[in-house]
Amino acid sequence: MRSLVFLALRVSALLWLSFSVLAENTNISGVRFGQNGADTRFVIDMSGQVEPNIFLLANPSRVVIDLPNGSWEKDNNTKPTGVVEGYRHGLFSPGIYRIVLDLKQPAILAKSFSLPASGGYGDRYVIDLRPATDSSFAEAVTSSKHERPTPRDVVPDTPERVSRSNGKRIVVVDAGHGGVDPGTLGRSGENEKTLTLKISKQIKADLERTGRYQVYLTRDKDIYIPHRQRFGLAKAVNADLFISVHVDAIADPDVRGGTVYTLNENASDKEAGRLARMENKSDIIAGVDLAETNNEVTSILIELAQRETMNASAQYAEILLAEMRSQVHMHKRGHRFANLLVLKSPDVPSVLIETGYITNKIDARMLASTDGQKRIAKAVARATDQYFATLVAQGR
Ligand SMILES: [Zn+2]
Repeated sequence: MRSLVFLALRVSALLWLSFSVLAENTNISGVRFGQNGADTRFVIDMSGQVEPNIFLLANPSRVVIDLPNGSWEKDNNTKPTGVVEGYRHGLFSPGIYRIVLDLKQPAILAKSFSLPASGGYGDRYVIDLRPATDSSFAEAVTSSKHERPTPRDVVPDTPERVSRSNGKRIVVVDAGHGGVDPGTLGRSGENEKTLTLKISKQIKADLERTGRYQVYLTRDKDIYIPHRQRFGLAKAVNADLFISVHVDAIADPDVRGGTVYTLNENASDKEAGRLARMENKSDIIAGVDLAETNNEVTSILIELAQRETMNASAQYAEILLAEMRSQVHMHKRGHRFANLLVLKSPDVPSVLIETGYITNKIDARMLASTDGQKRIAKAVARATDQYFATLVAQGR
């Protein structure tokens, strides 16, 4: 009993970390790009005066701007100029609203200052970026390091295995992407991160309605969650199953159909390799330095415990694929293997569902519809019932 209480406390602490309510008091109304001599000027229009935290990241070259308690109602999709190639923004963690600028060439922070409202303009924050050599950029990356927010303790210790008095199986449903990482973008303007959240919430509702599952979502709002924290939650709650929900995109608009992925160091084919490269970029997109996290993931991989988990994952994937086929259009080769970071939980059977292509008209319509989302959830609930029934039959 004591360990159960302990587990409950630990879970609520973790959820609190991810979902504590953000006080939104700096409203960003837009951004502008311009030239100021040789410098590229980046202006953030907002309500109120704030002092952002600014730092540089290498590989690829990025400028990260963290605003305390910010929000951004509507993006005016301003075209970047000068040294900036692209930008994105969103909630990075509770209390931190992040803007990431992708650099075309090395550049350093020449000036940054805030301007109070005047002459028809509201409050602004101005950042001037100056083209730089590789070595002075590298120096600036190092010296701005202390501005990075300290990473939260995202992987809690393994709680003891507890016997579940309520007899429910525990499932973690992971809504792909979120916050500053939008995922893939559809032609109609719908983002992957929005669709995955809707589908995941439907899956949670359907699973819980059976009375047989306790379901945790890795996120329940538009916020960035690192890969490690996603499977870290599965570990913390002693999950029996981890399901990551995604939406794919590809240049050819005729390609459609869903795919279920399970972990393997070697991709099953070219397509699976492409997918893994794209999905694994999430932390880079969100402005995270990967150099500090890679080692741990690699060492997890070689653990022998993973072998059994991989077999269980594949077993669930096959059942899920059959159920998905009866509800929505699936690829002919509907179960593939890829080296996906989010599936690297050493002892929780994990699958990743690419529910369809946002770049295909028919798939996009299905994914955005309540009916389509319900059909996906139905398939997941049926497959989950079947999978655990098989385990029970095998005495597990
Ligand atoms: Zn994705």
